[in-house]
Amino acid sequence: MNTDIPQPFFDGHNDLLLNLWLHHGDDPAEAFYAGLVGQLDYPRMRRGGFAGGLFAVFVPPAAYLTNMRLRGSIRDETDCAPLAISAAQIEILHTLAQDSQGRARICRSVDDIEYCLRNNVLAMVLHLEGAQSLDTDLLLLDQFYQQGLRSIGPFWNEQNQFGSGVKGDFPGSPDTGPGMTPAGKALIEVCNQKRILIDLSHMNEKAFWQMAELSDAPLVATHSNAHTICPQPRNLTDMQLAAIAASDGLVGVNFGTAFLRGDGKHDGGTPITDIVKHLCYLIDRIGEDRVGFGSDFDGVNVPDALGDVAGMPRLLEAMTRAGINDALREKLAWRNWLRVLMRTWGG
Ligand code: ZN
Repeated sequence: MNTDIPQPFFDGHNDLLLNLWLHHGDDPAEAFYAGLVGQLDYPRMRRGGFAGGLFAVFVPPAAYLTNMRLRGSIRDETDCAPLAISAAQIEILHTLAQDSQGRARICRSVDDIEYCLRNNVLAMVLHLEGAQSLDTDLLLLDQFYQQGLRSIGPFWNEQNQFGSGVKGDFPGSPDTGPGMTPAGKALIEVCNQKRILIDLSHMNEKAFWQMAELSDAPLVATHSNAHTICPQPRNLTDMQLAAIAASDGLVGVNFGTAFLRGDGKHDGGTPITDIVKHLCYLIDRIGEDRVGFGSDFDGVNVPDALGDVAGMPRLLEAMTRAGINDALREKLAWRNWLRVLMRTWGG
């Protein structure tokens, strides 16, 4: 094996757009292609093998926005209404594609992603993390879809018009709230019709089971881990994993140390092998075709030994040392993600 060439991988979740919106709203493409503070930018993505992924549009909670404004990360004149933030981040993603000189594209289908993988073009899929910018009549959903939206997490940790997310202290169960509202259930139905992926990662347990009953698509958690290893409310219980397996869905493993460790701590000293532990546990539980990566880069503290996206070859080496062979490594790195996206979106 030529170790100079990184294993290409597709990733279930990152918060690059939030970083660009907060710090580089005027020149996002210039900053992204030259290099950024954070865990992701184009040069390091290339070095790490990042071939594509779901790019989250994220509207932070009001308290977070106030804090960022106080710290000067958000200018006073910035419009912080949810729709304005979503629109600005969607525009940033389009700018990254338009100003890429052929290096990146917004992908709307598995065909688009496969084209990118063959041609060494960064494959960017538009994901909405928290749908509070959508109206409950879902009139805006078509507009977002036209702009490339292919994946939605209806709510983040907070409550919105579609339901309430998983919010609770470590250690704790994911059973933290009342689940989806009628508008949330209507959103699931429309997303099924339009074949938009619904992300379970921030759903509390009630919402998860409502979704399992309602949705006819594979159940996908884009960036969550195993609750048995790390009992953090955002992680998935064995019962939830069984439902994901039964639906032939997928779990993208989150690299955040607080989602990995048995003690739930944010600790940079967490070994990279803790990521491998979750991968292996999930493979045992839901099968080797249903596990992938969901790094959460730019959204969490990852092990120092990984560092940032450029450290991905070290994770892949750790997987090999744990006995993961080349064929399985490819499945975890990208094949499983493409399989579940094909089942969700269609050909
Ligand atoms: Zn998230």
